[in-house]
Amino acid sequence: MRELYPKTRLSFVRNVAAPMTDASMTVLEKRAAEPGMKLAERPIPTPGADEVRIAVRSVGIDGGVEAPLYRWDEYYHRYESHLPQVFGHEFAGVVDAVGADVVDWTGGERVAVEPRVSCGRCRNCREGRQNLCTEKPGFSPHGRRAIGIDVDAPGALAEYVVVPARNLYELPGSVTFDEGVFLELLAIGVHAVEASSFEMGDRVAIAGPGSAGLSALLAARAAGASEIVMIGADIDEGTRLPIAAEMGATATRNATEGALDRPVDVFVEASGHESAFRLAESSTRPGGEIVQVGVFHDDRVSVALTALLNDEVSIRTVNGRRQSDWRRALALSESVDLSPVVGPAFDMADYEAGFAAEAERAGVKVVLNP
Ligand SMILES: [Zn+2]
Repeated sequence: MRELYPKTRLSFVRNVAAPMTDASMTVLEKRAAEPGMKLAERPIPTPGADEVRIAVRSVGIDGGVEAPLYRWDEYYHRYESHLPQVFGHEFAGVVDAVGADVVDWTGGERVAVEPRVSCGRCRNCREGRQNLCTEKPGFSPHGRRAIGIDVDAPGALAEYVVVPARNLYELPGSVTFDEGVFLELLAIGVHAVEASSFEMGDRVAIAGPGSAGLSALLAARAAGASEIVMIGADIDEGTRLPIAAEMGATATRNATEGALDRPVDVFVEASGHESAFRLAESSTRPGGEIVQVGVFHDDRVSVALTALLNDEVSIRTVNGRRQSDWRRALALSESVDLSPVVGPAFDMADYEAGFAAEAERAGVKVVLNP
């Protein structure tokens, strides 16, 4: 490993109780099988030959991962025997040290990070679909490894995190670190629109105005949608549906209003709720497409396949991001204002307030700054 800027690294560090000479860092640990997390000190990690160390500047709280882990929902009790663990898989920061074999990064670059760990050699990886790498078994039910999710891959709720060098994407100069957290989510929305049968001028509906749904909105707008209807729940009326309108939705709607009067060409289901899939079935035109982005926590979800078959409505599933989605999301980030979907931001030391804000849906993507 080459140490980079050892004399200046102090300036990268905030909220450190111990001096850097102790080579320790502050992390936010899930320590015990109970609600909450706790600040702790851990050794600063050293990157392996093909890895880099990131000084984390901003890390997101995912309503489907870190938030339920914090609450200690039953779905995540499978982590119990692996605690303590540091989670955090949506993050941006500065390249702080690079492994001996790393040639593409020298240190000091501002980066966003793809959290999925891929092999780089399998067919899917070689075709740019590292989101579907077949060679890196992981702890998640979908079986793929990810930084901050796998039990042996500590995450970014920490001052430093080590990641494979191939997972980095340099942030455009105009994109803040907090906005950088959102890029991997924006890339999911890009993936949803790009992988679908969407054509310029098409009419789109999106269920679920969370990070993925609002990202799909930005992508559909950039791709030339003529209409974008954002559908939310009661809890979305206060903040997220108004944000959707601000970001270009031509109409917003409460899911309780039922099926759309005019079925759309492409329906992006980004909530992971089966009731929203029912809405998609009844609101997509014959020959149209349902794009499933929301993650269901049930193994099996019922689908009205006969009705969809009669109308030749196809279902496209989307998971994670491909190389091309990152490229398009990075380009898109230079021309759209991501500030409405990012924040509020909290110092990591104020994590309790941060998780409370997430629970209250105070914004779209609550972030912590280590
Ligand atoms: Zn692979």
